[in-house]
Amino acid sequence: TQSLLKVEHLQTAFRTGKGEVVSVEDVSFQLNAGQTIGIVGESGCGKSVTSLSIMRLLGQTGYIKKGTISLNGKDLTKLTETELRDVRGNEAAMIFQEPMTSLNPVFTIGNQMIEMIQLHMMISKKEAKQYAIQMLQKVGIPRAEEVINEYPHKLSGGMRQRVMIAMALSCKPKLLIADEPTTALDVTIQAQILELMKTLRDESNTAIMIISHDLGVIAEMADTVLVMYAGEVVEEADVFTLFDEPKHPYTLGLMKSIPHLETESEERLASIPGTVPTLQNMPSGCRFHTRCPYVMEQCLKEKPKLQGLDEKMGHQVRCWLYEEEQKSENREEAVL
Ligand code: SF4
Ligand code: MG
Repeated sequence: TQSLLKVEHLQTAFRTGKGEVVSVEDVSFQLNAGQTIGIVGESGCGKSVTSLSIMRLLGQTGYIKKGTISLNGKDLTKLTETELRDVRGNEAAMIFQEPMTSLNPVFTIGNQMIEMIQLHMMISKKEAKQYAIQMLQKVGIPRAEEVINEYPHKLSGGMRQRVMIAMALSCKPKLLIADEPTTALDVTIQAQILELMKTLRDESNTAIMIISHDLGVIAEMADTVLVMYAGEVVEEADVFTLFDEPKHPYTLGLMKSIPHLETESEERLASIPGTVPTLQNMPSGCRFHTRCPYVMEQCLKEKPKLQGLDEKMGHQVRCWLYEEEQKSENREEAVL
């Protein structure tokens, strides 16, 4: 079967006062209908820019330098602004961390939903209103007939995020991109929103790309996981393999920063010392070498490639520590 979304060798850059800055370097992945891919990493690692590249929402200064993004066989990097507007909402929709920034505060929920639904579905205003109420009910909003007349600030954060999901899903997108969708919400509401996204995914066979700095959210939602560091994918695996056998020192570091669940303590284990390098000052060789506890001579000079450890499972890692495993695998391939 053909993948719904296929990103190949994506490179995204921004124009800044100090020249061009590359935020996403050579990112590739595939996603099928009904599947969820999780992208995890600290902020500034290129997770959001990857998703904004897919939606082609890079603003005035951002641009895709290289690579292709094919959604349903269409290369999104080649579409005009008019064609893109048709894709956004119809085929791909996005929800963000803070719904207040994407909801217009001066219009009621109903005004915003009805206008969008009418735009995409060519139905009467009355029908659009009925449909909007149905969608609000579907995402678990009580008294939807009343909520539809409310202004966004009247609703709680959890309710606003439900409204955003209702809006995103009302045009039945094939791909839903969720960028830190639950980060601003408390734990109980977070669990409800994730559960809701899973139900809707299973009902409509929607593909989901979920972006989070929180490995717990990723474990809950994703089938496949990409770990990003400093604009690059450093590890890719199915969710079970990633959590059972994490390989990249950065992934290991992220896992150590998961809070103690057993003790229910808020205290975090030793997190990774140091910070993500700025894109203007990218370290030589391996980009993680300034923070890596296993750094070797070679890491400072040569950049490791993202390479498969196990061809069957698609477990890939970008690290010199696994060079031998990768070499032997390549030798086997050469013999075959
Ligand atoms: Fe650490 Fe070297 Fe692996 Fe980079 S390549 S993650 S510096 S061991
Ligand atoms: Mg982000």
